[in-house]
Amino acid sequence: KTPVLELNQVSIVYETSNGDVQAVNKVSFAIYENEIMALVGESGSGKSTIAYAVMRLLRGSAYLTEGTVKILGRDIYEMNKKDLRTFRWSQVSMVFQSAMSALNPVMNVEQQIVDTILSHEKITRKEASMRAASLLDLVSIDRKHLRSYPHELSGGMRQRVVIAIAIALKPQLVIMDEPTTALDVVVQRSILDQIQEIQRKQHFSILFISHDFSLVQELASRIAIMYAGRIVEETTTASLEVLDGHHPYTQGLLRAIPKLTADEIVIEGIPGSPPNLITLPTGCAFHPRCPVALETCKSVKPLTLEHNGALIECHLFDREEENAKWQKEIR
Ligand code: SF4
Ligand code: MG
Repeated sequence: KTPVLELNQVSIVYETSNGDVQAVNKVSFAIYENEIMALVGESGSGKSTIAYAVMRLLRGSAYLTEGTVKILGRDIYEMNKKDLRTFRWSQVSMVFQSAMSALNPVMNVEQQIVDTILSHEKITRKEASMRAASLLDLVSIDRKHLRSYPHELSGGMRQRVVIAIAIALKPQLVIMDEPTTALDVVVQRSILDQIQEIQRKQHFSILFISHDFSLVQELASRIAIMYAGRIVEETTTASLEVLDGHHPYTQGLLRAIPKLTADEIVIEGIPGSPPNLITLPTGCAFHPRCPVALETCKSVKPLTLEHNGALIECHLFDREEENAKWQKEIR
């Protein structure tokens, strides 16, 4: 079956005065119909860059240097501007972290939803208004707020309005980039529950981007963990529950989740910080922070291999290479 979203060997570079920043480095993954997949990693790992690339909204000096991005089988970088404009929001839409910047401060909620609908569909204003009202029902906002302006709503309500706009044209894919990060924990929970409920009703796929492992474990069925522009592990949420991940970075992130069930809250982070993307460490980019790094990790890049149903990029799982090295040493 054709994936809803398919990235194949995508690399993205930002040009800066200090040199080229390799923000995304040969990333491949696919999301299928009705599926929620998460991209997790520390800030600066390339998650948001991928989100913008999927919308073909890379800005400034950022550009795709290789690879393809296909939505419903169509390469969005081969589309002309007109097709792309129709495609965006009707087939793929995005919920950004800051609702305030996504909303127009001088238009009320109804106008914003109606405008989005009418810019893509040939229906009457009245029909669009009716849809705006039922979209508010869907995100649990009282219809009286159709007349409200963004500044009159709470942060959580504004983010709900943004979600309503994102699904107004019934897209097949919704990209959500840290959609709840700016909100407090209680509001975060209720919005996540709601996203899940709406997704079940409307059957679209979600690429959910977050730095927070505990959030995505409840939401997504599959998780790709990013480090320094690479996916270092792609696995299922179910397998994470049983195995605590394979890659040392995944395990570190999982340990960094506060364990509320324990007598005390334990937060074990990963020592060190993500590398400079202009001068990446040689070999495995994670080696300066990896607690179990091998000598070979400093110079040889690990391959991505399948293990236990997960895709892992780490020498610990790289048996062939280990064997080759052994044989060399024996010889
Ligand atoms: Fe650690 Fe080596 Fe695996 Fe990288 S390849 S995560 S340094 S063990
Ligand atoms: Mg980001």
